Amino acid sequence: MIGAPAVAAARLTVYSVAVTATTRIDLPTSAALGAAVAVVTCLRNHGFSAYFVGGCVRDALLGLTPKDYDIATSARPRQVCAVFADVVQVGISFGVVRVRQPCDSGEVVEIEVATFRADGRYSDGRRPDSVRFADAQQDVLRRDFTINGLLLDPCGPAKGEIHDWVGGLADLRDRQLRAIGDPLKRFGEDALRLLRAPRFAARFGLQVHADTAAAIRRLAPTLAQVSVERITAELTAMVIAPTAPAALDLLVDLNLCTQLWPQLLAADPHLTAAKLRLVRARTELERPIARNHWPVSTALTLPLVLALLADDLRNWPDSAEFTRSWRLSRQDLAAVRQLIALVATCPLEPTPLERAPLLPPWPAPVARWLRQPLADAALIAVISRPGGHRWLQWRQARADWPHENAFPDLGFDGLTVQRWGYAPGPAFARALRAAEDVRLSGGSGEQAEAAARSVLQAAARAS
Ligand code: ATP
Ligand code: MG
Repeated sequence: MIGAPAVAAARLTVYSVAVTATTRIDLPTSAALGAAVAVVTCLRNHGFSAYFVGGCVRDALLGLTPKDYDIATSARPRQVCAVFADVVQVGISFGVVRVRQPCDSGEVVEIEVATFRADGRYSDGRRPDSVRFADAQQDVLRRDFTINGLLLDPCGPAKGEIHDWVGGLADLRDRQLRAIGDPLKRFGEDALRLLRAPRFAARFGLQVHADTAAAIRRLAPTLAQVSVERITAELTAMVIAPTAPAALDLLVDLNLCTQLWPQLLAADPHLTAAKLRLVRARTELERPIARNHWPVSTALTLPLVLALLADDLRNWPDSAEFTRSWRLSRQDLAAVRQLIALVATCPLEPTPLERAPLLPPWPAPVARWLRQPLADAALIAVISRPGGHRWLQWRQARADWPHENAFPDLGFDGLTVQRWGYAPGPAFARALRAAEDVRLSGGSGEQAEAAARSVLQAAARAS
């Protein structure tokens, strides 16, 4: 039997589950917990049974604060809708609704309430053809891994008690990730579970049980049945987490990487170089940047991770193919492309260190590169390459660089240039750019104006 480590000690003992003489655990107090307990109490007051289930129970056992609470109940979806005033009907045919419950703070939290169910046949490797409402035990047996198949009683006389029909408590204690029931059957039902396995194993430092691992390796090709959207959601959670290097190891070890990123494996067979870049990028992000005039990333964002992973494909036509294998938002896709381009054109990289000026004014091409919004992320990617630590100080130097120096006020614009007697034309933009180059590289306002006038005069002479 397992009890959670004291919450205060959770940070130190996060992945070790203490063995105690009781199946009861205390949940860390939070507004979301209060709201979820209120939902269970209300369902029970109406004569239904209801428990916490899945990730929240697992997290609490690991001494982590659950990010949300899912509830499983004997009440049918229509009955849940009748009990609560504010319900969002997200997947009523699968027995799932979301109850919008106010917390003590007045904030409203959405709590997923799912009717106990058993899944019918899976004929497409994605979702059951039908579901049938069932009891609590059948409900946990349809779930993916034993660590996700635990129920917890959150209130009443059995408060804190765990119901374990799948051996999840022992697996958590032994740090095993194991499919519930026959692994070949479970992965055959929904191939997305193949990817959920490395995600949970990496996140909680678990060993994938031998039978479960063998089934994943065997069924890895069936990942092709899963939609790019679902794959992207799982992979995103994996690669932006601090445990991404462990997840990449598992993706390689479980043969999943050959299905997902054949082009990356061809360039870096065990993803060793990619992992190193991820580790260095995270270390770099955690380095404090003082006196900052520019927003600096504090988390590994998906575009940065993809640029770090695709780095070995820089000169390959496959880098576009790699990017396309993810279903990215338009914004993320633009950011990945821009980052890959920025890294490829980084003006610092080919420069011998002694000739790269650390402090502004920088040569105009360096300044133009550094003032782009994604330059900080691009610098992190450059720094994460072998030998890239030489450029560490440029992140701080960019952070110290005031915006008004990065976007200097020229003191004149197109209208002024017309007043100088020049007709509008393509030379205007070139003249303003020449003036800005002068200001960026440390020249005075007069020198900038002279540079603009000389471009305009040359253009006027040529026409
Ligand atoms: P996380 O903290 O990442 O959200 P979670 O365990 O809560 O972890 P969810 O995807 O939110 O994961 O799913 C909630 C629960 O539903 C899981 O714990 C598991 O019991 C069940 N579940 C989710 N997806 C599947 C699936 N594809 N196959 C079987 N069971 C699943
Ligand atoms: Mg969840």
